[in-house]
Amino acid sequence: MSGLDEQLVGADGPRTILILGGTSEARQLAECLVENPRFGQCAIVSSLAGRVSHPRLPQGEVRVGGFGGIPGLGKWVEDHHVVALIDCTHPFAERISATAHEVSRQRRLPLLTVHRPPWREVPGDQWIHVPTMEAAASRLHCFQRAFLTIGRQQLAAFSAVDTHCLIRCVEPPAPPLPHSHEVILDRGPFTVEGECALLEHADCDVLVTKNSGGAATYGKIEAARKRAIPVIMVDRPVPRRPSPYHEEVETTAAAVKQLQRIICSTQDC
Ligand code: NAP
Repeated sequence: MSGLDEQLVGADGPRTILILGGTSEARQLAECLVENPRFGQCAIVSSLAGRVSHPRLPQGEVRVGGFGGIPGLGKWVEDHHVVALIDCTHPFAERISATAHEVSRQRRLPLLTVHRPPWREVPGDQWIHVPTMEAAASRLHCFQRAFLTIGRQQLAAFSAVDTHCLIRCVEPPAPPLPHSHEVILDRGPFTVEGECALLEHADCDVLVTKNSGGAATYGKIEAARKRAIPVIMVDRPVPRRPSPYHEEVETTAAAVKQLQRIICSTQDC
């Protein structure tokens, strides 16, 4: 056994790498780790929140549902001999990330955050930066018809707006919703042409989005630029109490490298 293998099979059974997932990057990372012989001795477990009824499942083991906050994740990590915690959730999944930071801090557990790079403004873009959904809603009074592409969890922030809202999400949203709205159920990736056609057909004069980053939903940003309409851009949250055992990378390839280094650094290998 190599040093890495020994690290991954303790006296009390195999070690676990826990991926907090729910993103395409998390699925890619699980696949890379499952197929990488260097991690062959290790259980690769992906965790999903359980919000979507038919999620695309990652390779390796999968668990579904909340842990029960910091104590719940802490117990899970202990019971399953977790050697590294990977936060590969969406950059706006703020609560689970905060929980991961706290568990990492309390247990001195390596935490690797994998967040795709945010979108950056380019010439022709007209972005209005806001820190929260509530701030985004407060800017809508200047517009007639908004394209809301923020998912369905935080639509309540827009319930009091008078602007007509075209809402796109993967699953039907629950009330409260804006007074005047229509809903399209669809899942990316979306093309620039398709997004331009949608903005034109719905006659939208503003787009509201989170700065999710990634190629799959960038089409709407390009479409807004082409149609010369502003984008209300909700900027990414930053962890309030980052763990000192935390590192961040932007790609799954970098995550695999870093993970090898993290695990080897805890022992001679
Ligand atoms: P959140 O507000 O940060 O999390 C709310 C609660 O859901 C957490 O406290 C945790 O419950 C549970 N949870 C979240 N992610 C989990 C995971 N991967 N495994 C187990 N439990 C999890 O999260 P959210 O924004 O609702 O997002 C939920 C999931 O959807 C995340 O996994 C995220 O990657 C994915 N997603 C989110 C967005 C977005 O825009 N927010 C977009 C695409 C995908 P306990 O406290 O009980 O442990």
